[in-house]
Amino acid sequence: MPETNPAPAHKTTPFWWEAAPVRPLPEKSLPATVDVAIIGAGYTGLSAGLHLARAGRSVVCLDKMNPGEGASSRNGGITSGNIRLDHATLVRRFGEPRAMAIEAEGKKAREFLYHLLATENIACDFSLSGRFSGALGPDDYESLARTAEKLEKKLGIEAYAVPQSEQRNYLGTDFYRGGSVRMDIGGLQPAKFHAELLRVALAAGVQVRSGAAVTSVEKVGSGYQVTTEAGRISARQVLACTNGYTDNSDRWLRRRMVPIRSRIIATEELPEGLMATLMPKLMMCSETRNLGFYYRPSPDNKRILFGGRDGSTSGEPIEPTLHLKRNLIEIFPELKDVTLTHSWFGHVAMHRDMIPRIFERDGVVYATGFCGSGVVWAPWIGTQAARKLLGDKDMEPSAFDFRPPSAVPFYTGKPWFMPGVMAWYRHLDRKLMRRAGR
Ligand SMILES: Cc1cc2nc3c(=O)[nH]c(=O)nc-3n(C[C@H](O)[C@H](O)[C@H](O)COP(=O)(O)OP(=O)(O)OC[C@H]3O[C@@H](n4cnc5c(N)ncnc54)[C@H](O)[C@@H]3O)c2cc1C
Repeated sequence: MPETNPAPAHKTTPFWWEAAPVRPLPEKSLPATVDVAIIGAGYTGLSAGLHLARAGRSVVCLDKMNPGEGASSRNGGITSGNIRLDHATLVRRFGEPRAMAIEAEGKKAREFLYHLLATENIACDFSLSGRFSGALGPDDYESLARTAEKLEKKLGIEAYAVPQSEQRNYLGTDFYRGGSVRMDIGGLQPAKFHAELLRVALAAGVQVRSGAAVTSVEKVGSGYQVTTEAGRISARQVLACTNGYTDNSDRWLRRRMVPIRSRIIATEELPEGLMATLMPKLMMCSETRNLGFYYRPSPDNKRILFGGRDGSTSGEPIEPTLHLKRNLIEIFPELKDVTLTHSWFGHVAMHRDMIPRIFERDGVVYATGFCGSGVVWAPWIGTQAARKLLGDKDMEPSAFDFRPPSAVPFYTGKPWFMPGVMAWYRHLDRKLMRRAGR
């Protein structure tokens, strides 16, 4: 008999929605014509809309769900701005100049986000807490230490190695064999960030419509006809910001974008004093395994939120939640009896070469592919895409603005290859653990 899951005791909606629920906007008809129609009202679409509206363009952001209901209110809120490929791979794939420019743009993008939060008075529980990355063995500890040194020397980012003997000053666990800290990364409440960005965008004149699924975009004369489930719009320009929620209305993009589930669990409030033992510096956390975990304290420092790859492709199976809980307990055995209050997933989006991008096809501009690291990249790349649409001549070109990502062979929306990819990463992680003598 097929195994059925009992109804979970925890909520399957994001913990973040308790303080910042996503809501439909008051119903309004669609404008007949706009300068720019943006598909998607997550961080990318809203940031682009904000820049365009302030430059005097009429803009509508169209979203098939409630604004923010995609990854932008479901994520871990860690301002990581990661690029998944290491320097050597970047050079091999894109050449030395672009590789260097991609790495340097991470610093600009993070500073752009922090400036945006400060200048727009965005209240989203942001704290520049720093991030601890845990090593599984001596080789990856050495590699973390070298990266920290390079960040200090080349980019002036405060970063340093933490030997295992000092680890408990940062994280109350003996699971890692030391690690590194970088102080330019912090955490925010992602759903509050989205709600605040929406407030700022609306105040700047961006029109935002929920429940407006775009079903087609057709070139008509020098502009476009955008058809949605709520009506039609004529737009001079179109920007697609659909990332992990891209659907079959854009089959060309769908073949280039693989949505993958990422899941987060939230613990109940921990007994007083336990947080100070487990997370004494209240930093954001990550680790070096390919299928590793990201975790953090809740903004009130009472719970731990623990995330990682989900592995499922449909329904709400219980196993991914249990998998996260097992790994949480492996790192913090003190949590063996902890109750979970929430477990939810969202879609991250991977291009084949794992680099976020701005690109163009038939005049439509795209800003997508944040590979699970869009809290920093999405506002930055959304804004750079807006500048591209404006034809901003003073703009220093973004290192992320280049050819469209390649299609994934034999892929039309069902990621048949994911079990193989996951098995490969599990194999690499087993090798890493064996090399570490574990
Ligand atoms: C569980 C999880 C944890 C994560 N943790 C982190 C983290 O800690 N740090 C970090 O930097 N990043 C993290 N990320 C990634 C980050 O959340 C995303 O990269 C970012 O939110 C992408 O923003 P976006 O605006 O491009 O996409 P989204 O917020 O996903 O918005 C896309 C929107 O497009 C809309 N859409 C799609 N198709 C259509 C259509 N046809 N018509 C109309 N609308 C459409 C969708 O409804 C959706 O609202 C995480 C993601 C997940 C899921």
